[in-house]
Amino acid sequence: MPGPVVREIEAKSILNASKIYDYCVNPYTGCQVGCAYCYAALFMRRYSGHSEPWGDFVDAKVNAPALLARQIVKARRGKIWFSSVCDSYQPLEERYGLTRRSLEVLAGRDFPVVIQTKSVRIRRDIDVIRRIPEVEVGFSVASDDESIIRAFERTSSPVAERIEALREFRAAGVATYAFAGPLLPGNPERLAALLDGAVDRVLIDRMNYVPAVRALYARQGLLAALTDAFFRDQADRLAKALRARGIAVEKVF
Ligand code: SF4
Repeated sequence: MPGPVVREIEAKSILNASKIYDYCVNPYTGCQVGCAYCYAALFMRRYSGHSEPWGDFVDAKVNAPALLARQIVKARRGKIWFSSVCDSYQPLEERYGLTRRSLEVLAGRDFPVVIQTKSVRIRRDIDVIRRIPEVEVGFSVASDDESIIRAFERTSSPVAERIEALREFRAAGVATYAFAGPLLPGNPERLAALLDGAVDRVLIDRMNYVPAVRALYARQGLLAALTDAFFRDQADRLAKALRARGIAVEKVF
């Protein structure tokens, strides 16, 4: 697969208001992970003026760390989320290090940080992350079934590696969570067993952007997995199995 079209740009703002947490930081516009179910794909292509398909373009905000350093000194304390409309640890982070250098700005500062990713590239930054006083590392894990995951996500890490990375962060004293969303077909009891000992809590969400992925579900013969009954059943089974193992659960739908 050819690489994405990459542009280097200067952002005007990097510490932006978020509806989910107080702030979000997106060091990149565009996301090579290219998930078929991505809600950001619905609006980010138009917003960024790109004609390439979602997953095939990335703008690297090369001034992100310097801009964050300027904005943070004027900001009111609040929780910062990496990232709302990209994966901060998509492959290009190896080249640009914008996430790492942005996190370095936050090390030792009194701003809680949440980092959610699908890539074990985050391991590289465990030293910086541990220097952030209040920090949580989360991995999206939408199914235990690697073949299902591969049908929906382009460049994410294998599920087993994500869970291994969660264990490493937790063993290093960093709070961890899994985002089981958007729930994909799989075995919820097996997923709960895999997450046991790796996370402090699990958030469960459903697929909310059905029109964009309906055709993909149809091609995979998975249309039954788009019904309300499927999400109810899958989420209930997962929540029950997690609670039985003493893991805190939050359904966000
Ligand atoms: S990792 Fe997140 S932002 Fe990136 S394509 Fe997947 S869902 Fe979208």
